Amino acid sequence: MFEALSGRLSGVFDGLAKRGALSEADVLEAMREVRLAMLDADVALPVVKDFVNKVKERAVGAEVLDSISPGQAVAKIVNDALIDALGGAGAVPLNLNAAAPVPVLMVGLQGSGKTTTSGKIALRLKTRERKKVLLASLDTQRPAAQLQLAQLAEQVGVPSLPIVAGQTPVDIAHRAMDTGRREGFDVVILDTAGRLSIDEALMEEVRQVRAATQPAETLLVVDAMTGQDAVNTAKAFDEAVGVTGVVMTRMDGDARGGAALSMKAITGAPIKLTGSGEKLDALEEFHPERVAGRILG
Ligand code: GDP
Repeated sequence: MFEALSGRLSGVFDGLAKRGALSEADVLEAMREVRLAMLDADVALPVVKDFVNKVKERAVGAEVLDSISPGQAVAKIVNDALIDALGGAGAVPLNLNAAAPVPVLMVGLQGSGKTTTSGKIALRLKTRERKKVLLASLDTQRPAAQLQLAQLAEQVGVPSLPIVAGQTPVDIAHRAMDTGRREGFDVVILDTAGRLSIDEALMEEVRQVRAATQPAETLLVVDAMTGQDAVNTAKAFDEAVGVTGVVMTRMDGDARGGAALSMKAITGAPIKLTGSGEKLDALEEFHPERVAGRILG
């Protein structure tokens, strides 16, 4: 991920650093290249425009151009702007500040990695935070999805809510929360149904489950490989059900990175976690400053 963007930006800033003195025209030329590199990386157009304008505003002044190493000064401004676009300094942790059992709602399209990510989060909370986690599948459309979650739960070593035929997603959510309360669980992860595309029935179902459980987190799982579509999906989910955090999967693939750079500006929701493989421990916190560092090489 980010390889092409990183390669091109390094080229631009290595060029600037070599020059010593910089004119305003040099900076504007460099920003033209940055703009093209970001667009090629699939960053959403309004995000690119805003980014480039901000950098220009800060970089084209005597303070920067007359400084001892203007190339580095401009690179630092770009680094800071990248951190901003990625969501600001520091990882944003999961919010589990609610009375136990804390409901965590997982939403997203089918195939985004939602069920796998539910298992990964359960494993993480269990091993790192010693939480007692219950996994529950609310996918009444696809019995296979319910079985998949039950199998994942077994691999992770946490219980999953027994499957009862004929229940609605809201029924299952209530049963999961009741079990959570009765059996002293700290966190209940509710894996909602995914669909192949966004539709009103899916959103209505999520809204109902949300109203019934008042989740501390509504985590949207999106596939980084889908680029601009990931951002459009996130926007639609956020508008319809309200998203508190994003989990971006397939960061191990060769996605161009535009989705990660556009997500915060377009949806307002921070990327909280990333998936970097099929294995259940392949889940990382998202640190904007580290990612910006990687992009600038
Ligand atoms: P769901 O339909 O959204 O629940 O998607 P699944 O959880 O079933 O995941 C679909 C496929 O993507 C599975 O084969 C997962 O192992 C795989 N997958 C999930 N997350 C990642 C990830 O971060 N990286 C990679 N390479 N594969 C992933």
